[in-house]
Amino acid sequence: MLNLTYNYKLQPTAKQIEIIEHNLDVCKSVWNHALYVRKLWHNSRSCKIDRCSIKHEYIVNMFEYPNYHNQSADLTKAKRGNAFLRSGNAQAMQQTLRKLDRAFNDMKSKNMGFPRYKKKMKSFNLISNKIELNGNYIKMPLLKKVKFRKSRDIPEGFKIKQIQIIKKASGYYANLTIVLNVDVPTPMPKGHTIGIDVGIHSMLATSDGLTIPRPKFLDKALRKIKLLQRKLKKKIISSNKWKRLQHRIALLHEAVANRRKEYHFQLAHQLCKATGTIFVEDINFKSWSKGLFCKQSLDMGLGQFFTVLEHISWKTDTYFAKVDKNYTSQICPNCGTHTGKKELNVRVHKCDECGYECDRDVAASMIIRDRGLNDIAVGTTVIKLPSNGVLSGAKV
Ligand SMILES: [Zn+2]
Repeated sequence: MLNLTYNYKLQPTAKQIEIIEHNLDVCKSVWNHALYVRKLWHNSRSCKIDRCSIKHEYIVNMFEYPNYHNQSADLTKAKRGNAFLRSGNAQAMQQTLRKLDRAFNDMKSKNMGFPRYKKKMKSFNLISNKIELNGNYIKMPLLKKVKFRKSRDIPEGFKIKQIQIIKKASGYYANLTIVLNVDVPTPMPKGHTIGIDVGIHSMLATSDGLTIPRPKFLDKALRKIKLLQRKLKKKIISSNKWKRLQHRIALLHEAVANRRKEYHFQLAHQLCKATGTIFVEDINFKSWSKGLFCKQSLDMGLGQFFTVLEHISWKTDTYFAKVDKNYTSQICPNCGTHTGKKELNVRVHKCDECGYECDRDVAASMIIRDRGLNDIAVGTTVIKLPSNGVLSGAKV
């Protein structure tokens, strides 16, 4: 099964905007209440059964764990006596509960943060077989016929399965999930192999010796944003002028995010060109974004870049894998000796054992490439040609 997501800008009428806003509002209430119930359950069980907490105790009736199915049934019951809930789209509300369920699962399996209450809901999903494109209009259950800007055609044979309506500073957008019933083979390791090392000084370095400096998306826009934020401080909160300024700031942030994403896609395509296998480090970018270089790290959006790179690799039939990140900058790629920790200002790798010298990030990326090749070689017969890093005969 092939799943793709296409993004379009919507041009809804005033009436349709009202419907979208209302549904976002209803979904927000559903999310916040469902999260409240889940929090209640978690708190009521945070202390052992045979002792009491010193601070406070949750006195709640024992109830079953509020999973998706329980909450979904509760929602149906609650709708009977609540006109506000009845006015929202049932599908959108169900999907909101599903999203919350996924957030809790991710928390456990991927070690992500505890889901939060929402001040604003930014999107909702609708799953239906009745979504169709008709000229410049999207036919869908909730909004009937909504005008959109057809920036690209949907490839032939694909069916629309799901629509996500998104609210951004610059307007309303639709994410269409399209599916095609074909088997897509997963890419196999082959061809030219590169390792990619990412860092603060240069955004990335490849084992071919290519280094790309850190792009400064936010730095350029920051002057403008700072100026507007200073103005914003002097305005009365929630006044019309305050709202207008807030909107302008949001627009600037959105433009920066768009530029960043565009750059990531271009860079990923450039890397996948003429490459058969890509290895990257398995980095937890969350801890990076809290550290010393948090602003620079967030501005580069490396987490997003890896997701984009993985997607583009899959699209261009390039093998993509993550390898262990430890000590990549401390080992000599030529002889494998531990050369010890380098300070951040040391830009050159110099080996005392064999005299090998090169850029430190490139050296690290070579280690990543070799580690990746080793990982594949375990359990398979791989002939590795160290002279040009070409991998042949790989079978997984
Ligand atoms: Zn060496």
